[in-house]
Amino acid sequence: MTKLSATATSVARARPTLKTALVVASLLTSFVAAPTWAAFVTTQEAKLESLIFGTTNFGFQIDLRFNPVTTLVVDDELLDINQGDFNALDALFTGALNTIELFFVDAISYCGGVGGFVGCADAPGNTVIVSSSAAANTSWGHVLLAHEIGHTMLGIAHGAGNNVMNGNVDSALHVDFDAGQVSTILGSNLVQGIGSNRFIVIDPILVSSAAVVPIPGALVLLLSAIGSLGLLGGRTRQRAT
Ligand SMILES: [Zn+2]
Repeated sequence: MTKLSATATSVARARPTLKTALVVASLLTSFVAAPTWAAFVTTQEAKLESLIFGTTNFGFQIDLRFNPVTTLVVDDELLDINQGDFNALDALFTGALNTIELFFVDAISYCGGVGGFVGCADAPGNTVIVSSSAAANTSWGHVLLAHEIGHTMLGIAHGAGNNVMNGNVDSALHVDFDAGQVSTILGSNLVQGIGSNRFIVIDPILVSSAAVVPIPGALVLLLSAIGSLGLLGGRTRQRAT
């Protein structure tokens, strides 16, 4: 906080020309009103519980318990997931081992290979990264989230037809788990509780741009610290889209 105050003071003393001041004011306004990067969190909790983790597939409803949203302010580079970024982002949040870490980003350009992806997950593991706009899709956003959560427990394999693990997630029809998948999911350490009182805990993490914080100078220090942390991530795991 001390550093933030110091920077704000020095900016105020800079006495920019009127034209510069107007441009800066305009930029700050645009950051607030319409940030360049705008990931957001959509949990799709109701649909996930009723249509996928509900009685049709499991005979009872698995409760999805979303913890409060954690906001990570990162270098813009981490808003679009490229090679190495999965581990770098994962290293910035530490939750419980039996809790799913669900990151919402702007874009995923690498997941075991280069491409345009809407989701990427440890297969198996407990980390999921999704495109926030895809997760918000009112038709199949819940299928995407269930699919990636499925990878954390079911591994890298894909299914067919209306199975949740069909490699194409953009269909509202892909809401089925088969008996083998149900058994594996119920045996996962990510499913807590007993009998028909089971639950999955999820940490939603909003990955936000530093650009939306209108004190750029202070961010250099913060981003340096985040960059250093990112280098610590070196795990090799299978990733699935
Ligand atoms: Zn997949």
